[in-house]
Amino acid sequence: METRQDRYEGARENKLNQLKELIDKSENIVFLGGAGVSTESGIPDFRSGEGIFNQESGLKYRAVDVVSHSFFLEHPEEFYDFYKRKLCYPGALPNKAHKALARLERQGKLKAIITQNIDNLHQLAGSKNTIELHGSVCKNFCMQCGKHFDLNYVLQSSGVPYCDRCGGVVKPNVTLYEENLEHDKVDAAIKALKKCDLLIIGGTSLTVYPAATFVQFIKHGNIVIINKSSTYLDLQAKLTIHDSIGEVLDFVIPKRRTKKQIEAAKQLKKKEEKARIRSEKRLAKKEAEAKEKT
Ligand SMILES: [Zn+2]
Repeated sequence: METRQDRYEGARENKLNQLKELIDKSENIVFLGGAGVSTESGIPDFRSGEGIFNQESGLKYRAVDVVSHSFFLEHPEEFYDFYKRKLCYPGALPNKAHKALARLERQGKLKAIITQNIDNLHQLAGSKNTIELHGSVCKNFCMQCGKHFDLNYVLQSSGVPYCDRCGGVVKPNVTLYEENLEHDKVDAAIKALKKCDLLIIGGTSLTVYPAATFVQFIKHGNIVIINKSSTYLDLQAKLTIHDSIGEVLDFVIPKRRTKKQIEAAKQLKKKEEKARIRSEKRLAKKEAEAKEKT
């Protein structure tokens, strides 16, 4: 007899196969991800029950107040105390989700990753086109002379890191509250979104600006959501999977291309070659006709 568990498993399998098919059919995929992508690497998110904003900050200030531009300027000591403890994870490694997305990029299907995360894990997994909307802990600069510093420099300094060239305060290139996002990043994200034929949204509850507004640039219905909890877009999306993003992506993005995919790529190449020859012939014919007339 079919049990509830069987039905649940059946529904899950069905959804995963649907996602697989969608990925198969698409040629220009964009992934939009949030903190949930990195929780499986041991990095806490901000807003969930165990999230950074709900943890004890260890300071007399609330965590949510510490990560603001004015706080950074007024209390750099306290900012860095919190920042180094709660926002930097130099030992974290890419998980199944990061690795699967890097594979999908290598297969030529994934054109961009737009992430709200600052942990550098997509790059560490091998992804090339990653748009870090909120910056990265790996990029730091002197507020006075602009010199760049890596994460080690920040972590190894005691308290506030100062520039070894001019003595200025070093600031992480991470977007704090009250700060604007970099225009060129937002532009690049919108450009990628407008071109995509499939948008996969993962590990984000879609409450953070600007990710929440990005969906308006998608003019087709091919939106897939993979998130443990529900989002406001669940009903609008073509497919919604409430599950571990690492498990889902690892399952639907094969480690190697299947025979079917290799064959499909060959057929496509043949087709393109035929089309090219046809158009060359047409052009030659037109030229010949034009010559005859003159
Ligand atoms: Zn400097």
